[in-house]
Amino acid sequence: MTTESTATQTTRAWVDIDLGALVRNGAALWRHAGVPLVPMVKADAYGLGAVACARALEKLDPHGFGVATVREAEELRAAGIRRRIYVFSPLLPADFAAARAARAVPTFGDPAAIAAWVESGGGTWHLAIDTGMHRAGVRWDCIGDVVDLVRDHPPEGAFTHFHSAERNDGSWEAQEARFRKALGALPEKPVLVHAQNSAGIVRRTPSTWSFVRPGVFLYGVGSGDGAALKPEPVVHVRARILELHDLHDGDTVSYTASWRAVGERRVATLGIGYADGYRRALGNKGPALLNGARTCVAGVVTMDMTMIDVTDIACRPGDVVTLIGRDGGQLITVEEIADCADFMSPYEMLTGLRQRLPRVYHEAMP
Ligand SMILES: *Cc1c(COP(=O)(O)O)cnc(C)c1O
Repeated sequence: MTTESTATQTTRAWVDIDLGALVRNGAALWRHAGVPLVPMVKADAYGLGAVACARALEKLDPHGFGVATVREAEELRAAGIRRRIYVFSPLLPADFAAARAARAVPTFGDPAAIAAWVESGGGTWHLAIDTGMHRAGVRWDCIGDVVDLVRDHPPEGAFTHFHSAERNDGSWEAQEARFRKALGALPEKPVLVHAQNSAGIVRRTPSTWSFVRPGVFLYGVGSGDGAALKPEPVVHVRARILELHDLHDGDTVSYTASWRAVGERRVATLGIGYADGYRRALGNKGPALLNGARTCVAGVVTMDMTMIDVTDIACRPGDVVTLIGRDGGQLITVEEIADCADFMSPYEMLTGLRQRLPRVYHEAMP
């Protein structure tokens, strides 16, 4: 987080973050799941700011928080977060001491890593069971490889992760069956069992496990049309108009001259570009909201500036344009922008918003 004042944060381009909506999204998931949350605040809470989001989500009395790295756990501890923190990427021994110092709970599936954790002093850990993602954890059909270790040093918890929780392709059922089989093969059932991400929570209610691990839904990204629960938008990307340009028939805009004025046109230059995470793929395509109207990016997005067509929209330098999020009655969702940017993942769009955009937090959106 920056130490600038709010006045200087909103002079060019920034991200308004609606903490009220974040908490309401979490509350909706909590009600739906019927078990406590472990909000995933990894990757700086998907780019929104881990400390601010974790503090806001404490209102929901979460069981703990989930991160991907020990440094992320350290950041939360330094900010005074006292609840459980799980690290959901496997740790190498070089990180064990720091993890213990941060009172972080590691997750392992590799027998050698479990043995190293135990030998280096042990402490609470959870067993990662791979049921088909083949990213992290012990294979469900190789539980025998860890049975002796877990008998002597039982994990407090065991969990898996679904690779296609947002789809109806039968893979959920297959992974769940593997997970149950693996749990049954453990010498004793761990106290805490967990599996569901956002899409899994939305689509499988109530939860039959100990807690749920929502991420993207909290931050305003839903799990598709027809989902039982829809999140409120949380992220609003704004940029101010820096200059206005009146163009004549045939004039072109930006690098490669890919946008050409037909008749008299007016374009506005915004103080945001791909170095802010406003993707170059949005050139000539990205939607924009301005003074109650909806318009479009004109030409290629450049590193620091982006032009939009404002012909027929009354505006002047300093006016605020919304590129993601709500403005008045209109909304551009993260999913819409990600689709528009050559079918990018909304996760990648959110985590790609760069630090040059100050995050401005609101308990309630003005
Ligand atoms: C990131 C992550 C989640 C959250 O996933 P979403 O789809 O963002 O809800 C849950 N569990 C694990 C292990 C993760 O890595």
